[in-house]
Amino acid sequence: MSLLPFDKSLPFLEDIWKKLESHLCFWCICRHLGIDSISFYKQTISEAMEELLATYPQHKEIISESPAASPTICGGCYEVLTSFTEDRFLVQIAEEVKSQETEFEHFSCSIGLPVASVVREFTFLLMCADVCPDAYEFLPIEQVPSVKDVWKWMCGSRLESKLNKRFSLEHLDILLNFEQKEVDSECCRLEESFRDRFRKRKGKADQFTRANVLNALLSVSRAKLRTLVAYPPDKLSHVSAVSSILCTHNSIYVAGRYNKYSRQLSQSPWIIEGERKGLETSVSEIISHPLVEYTRADKHEFSSSGREDIDVQMLGSGRPFMLQLHNPRKLLSQSTLLRIQEEISQSSLVKVRDLQTVSRADTDILKDLEGEKRKTYSALCISDSDISQQVLDGLGDIKDLVLEQKTPIRVLHRRALAIRPRTVYWMKAQPVDGSDKKFNLTLETQAGTYVKEFVHSDFGRTVPSLGGLLGGRQLDILALDVLSVHVDWPPSLKKVQ
Ligand SMILES: [Zn+2]
Repeated sequence: MSLLPFDKSLPFLEDIWKKLESHLCFWCICRHLGIDSISFYKQTISEAMEELLATYPQHKEIISESPAASPTICGGCYEVLTSFTEDRFLVQIAEEVKSQETEFEHFSCSIGLPVASVVREFTFLLMCADVCPDAYEFLPIEQVPSVKDVWKWMCGSRLESKLNKRFSLEHLDILLNFEQKEVDSECCRLEESFRDRFRKRKGKADQFTRANVLNALLSVSRAKLRTLVAYPPDKLSHVSAVSSILCTHNSIYVAGRYNKYSRQLSQSPWIIEGERKGLETSVSEIISHPLVEYTRADKHEFSSSGREDIDVQMLGSGRPFMLQLHNPRKLLSQSTLLRIQEEISQSSLVKVRDLQTVSRADTDILKDLEGEKRKTYSALCISDSDISQQVLDGLGDIKDLVLEQKTPIRVLHRRALAIRPRTVYWMKAQPVDGSDKKFNLTLETQAGTYVKEFVHSDFGRTVPSLGGLLGGRQLDILALDVLSVHVDWPPSLKKVQ
């Protein structure tokens, strides 16, 4: 089995090794040789060496001299792949994670290294290219496994047993930030040559990112590159230090449906010129508060399938909504959600149902359904003249009526002026309490229909209007309720007894 992906480098293995060994640790030499077998790095250093010797017995002498000849401090990983893969460091990570009191099912690890590490990786590849130009002609940085990847290969499963959790890209990310001050300063050499690329931005301490340094280095010839970097790289006198261990949990998405039983409650906090309008709370606050408090999320975002006006009640099966909880410290079990659902529903203003966690992918459903959904409304209307049951019954014959709605005057300040066709699928009307002028209209409409304007015509801006259909009467709307938002999401939950 071959370990070296660059076939042409094999005859030069000894020379490359000799060139690198006073700068790099055993693992970093192997990385720059392009060895990318995960199982290779999962071994102890002596096992890995044995495998290398068995594969390339002709190079026994030079390989087996390492790591005695290795530098005190590796110039490629600053000991991240040596000291910081030892058991005591993994114990330290596990203790730090536990001290942050974050609940999680799975975890992943990220490593933050000085940006100038890219410069060093390039410099070591230049050194390889000097010995073996054929294999390293294009400075194949993408074929050199990164320190981050190798660290994860070495430590991932060992950390699993320390944390007693499985490694996975989902859930908790443990970010290990390493700093190495000598290396940090190395990017500054590039600043002179690439003034355009590394312009100092106001308020931003670090104008170097891995991406822009990499792009800058890739944009110049090899000869030029050699003049831009310290060649060979300076020897380091300090190992890297862990500047922080940060735990961040993926967002949790909670979905459900809500009812709103108030004509003074807005869906989100309604603030005009710094002053709060309506009640001192809102649908989103009533729902979010207990969930944010329980999970101790850093922040949250509430979204829903449309919204009703402040003076419109949301009845029936409720309106679908979703809450994104950023970096929660506690997870939500279905029984906890049920308890929180009951707590929210104790409010006389809002009730929720079908509260459940959904996947990130599921949240797109809420957006996708936005344009398709139908809604059923109940509108209490009043006419300027008496209106008979017979006239009202005539509305029942109208199906799929297309309205042309010019942007209503009341929303002109936030919506572009346009004429929008909207469909009323069906309607029916019933007189209220034997009144000759008041009646209750039930209707099902396409998403985005302005129902109030359909009733009173908005000074002729909605055509046809209900007043027009009822023989040219002046109508007004006294109260509006949403009875149903026809979106089959989130799935309804069976009652837990
Ligand atoms: Zn190293």
